[in-house]
Amino acid sequence: MAPLVEVRNLSKHFSIGGGWLRGEPGILKAVDDVSFYISEGETLGLVGESGCGKTTLGRTLLRLYEPTSGQAFFDGVPIFEQNRKQMLSLRRKMQIVFQDPYASLDPRMTVAEIIAEGISIHKLASSSKERMEIVHHLLDTVGLRPDASKRFAHEFSGGQRQRIVIARALAVEPSFIVCDEPISALDVSIQAQIVNMLEDLQHERGLTYLFIAHDLAMVKHISHRIAVMYMGKIVELADSRELYANPQHPYTKALLSAIPIPDPDIESQRERIMLEGDVPSPINPPPGCRFRTRCPNAMKVCGEEEPPTFESGNHMVACHLLT
Ligand code: SF4
Repeated sequence: MAPLVEVRNLSKHFSIGGGWLRGEPGILKAVDDVSFYISEGETLGLVGESGCGKTTLGRTLLRLYEPTSGQAFFDGVPIFEQNRKQMLSLRRKMQIVFQDPYASLDPRMTVAEIIAEGISIHKLASSSKERMEIVHHLLDTVGLRPDASKRFAHEFSGGQRQRIVIARALAVEPSFIVCDEPISALDVSIQAQIVNMLEDLQHERGLTYLFIAHDLAMVKHISHRIAVMYMGKIVELADSRELYANPQHPYTKALLSAIPIPDPDIESQRERIMLEGDVPSPINPPPGCRFRTRCPNAMKVCGEEEPPTFESGNHMVACHLLT
């Protein structure tokens, strides 16, 4: 499969502080020199704790934030070099589903208006009748009845609202969707339904996903490959099965050990890796490995030099342990 999305050495830094009562000025390196690709029809899971930069990465890719440096390509087109008009047509192909379906839907608009907005902007229907037919078809696609179109978002449950958000994204016929923690705010019972629906849509429409989540359990079933992020860096990236069977980075191992196993016998016998130590400030981070203050395997070199990147087949790890 050819890469549909390619990211090269992408960084997004924020200048913070420096004013009266606002503390020392500093640079928050939310995303720092990150590279990866996503093939057409593939799901890349992106996992890390809250504040690790994964949401900033997804939004920078769609230019909801402007990058500090680096390049990104969509189907060979350099995303950061597009002017406003070119970006509008590129946005049609690259959509985002936000974490909070409560905040991302305008409470004053009916569901039909919400879904039809993109259809109108991109002139994807020749008449209002055709536009409504597309809206009803999309509602059916995401498992909602046609009469949902006349109602308002607040009349729906969290899972139903996320279905509306997905229908809105699909309305403009995208090929790539950034799913920014789309199930984190939902009940556990609903999460699997939404993941299954996203998988079905991927098969039917050949969609490509960047699926962002804060733990490895959430991305396990949907991801073909998984990238693990810590304080702005991708520390490990591998095929899903390989990552679960053969994790190399100490942070990935700790994340995996936190996933509960349904079998109580296995669960009681396995070793949990408890991460101790402080998380360093992401502002002006110190040299060396950013995970070293919590890493059970930290060595002297980890505080002195940035960990080198090792690649073996499809498995990438950034850690001094592999030196
Ligand atoms: Fe731990 Fe050192 Fe590897 Fe960082 S580079 S994860 S501190 S062993």
